[in-house]
Amino acid sequence: MNPQKLRYLKALEIPVWVDNARQLTPSNAASTQQTHEEIAGEVAATKTIPVTQTDLKQLDQCVKDCTACDLHKTRTQTVFGVGNTQADIMVIGEAPGFYEDQQGEPFVGRAGQLLTAMFQSIGLNREEIFIANILKCRPPNNRDPLPYEVDACTGYLQQQIRLIQPKALCAVGRIAGHFLLNTDLSLSKLRHQTHYYGENKTPLIITYHPAYLLRKPSAKGKSYADMLRLKKLVGL
Ligand code: URA
Repeated sequence: MNPQKLRYLKALEIPVWVDNARQLTPSNAASTQQTHEEIAGEVAATKTIPVTQTDLKQLDQCVKDCTACDLHKTRTQTVFGVGNTQADIMVIGEAPGFYEDQQGEPFVGRAGQLLTAMFQSIGLNREEIFIANILKCRPPNNRDPLPYEVDACTGYLQQQIRLIQPKALCAVGRIAGHFLLNTDLSLSKLRHQTHYYGENKTPLIITYHPAYLLRKPSAKGKSYADMLRLKKLVGL
């Protein structure tokens, strides 16, 4: 799409899906810089995203310095991720909300407390898993992430997964599931199977977002069934 049209769409906050073939994958990490520059150029982003950091602390610093999309202008701070960097399970949410933006940690609000309880239900403390989001900065008013924001942040999450090498991924919610699987199937369809992510084919389970479970507590039983499957998957 021509860059001028993309800029108009971005100004109107109209979602634009970037061709999946251009998504970064572990196997094309060497060409990361060029790919990001292309994408950054199209959305008038100001900075190339480095995704080749081999250390999580350095990667965190890159995220802190990131100005690749407009969310850096409204964030209080970045939200890199938290937990055991050698965890068997990595949880992936959507984006920081108000409290996460204030505290610099994912899932610390009411939904976060429920997420912690979901893992306690299978015998895991919050400190034993690693929790991250697709976006590292809060979208204003907690709106859905725009595709160009997801695109700008993709490299960070992919590099986190490469460095942590979890035995399984657990995506919470439709947006995280859609992003990881590049699909728009409904969550109810995605929940029932084990998927595989990336070149390492890391097993991936998709379950309800805890914010949804707060609105619809009757779905907690189904979410517990998903957690049990996850537990079995990592051999707990
Ligand atoms: N919802 C998310 O998806 N992530 C958070 O960190 C908080 C709420």
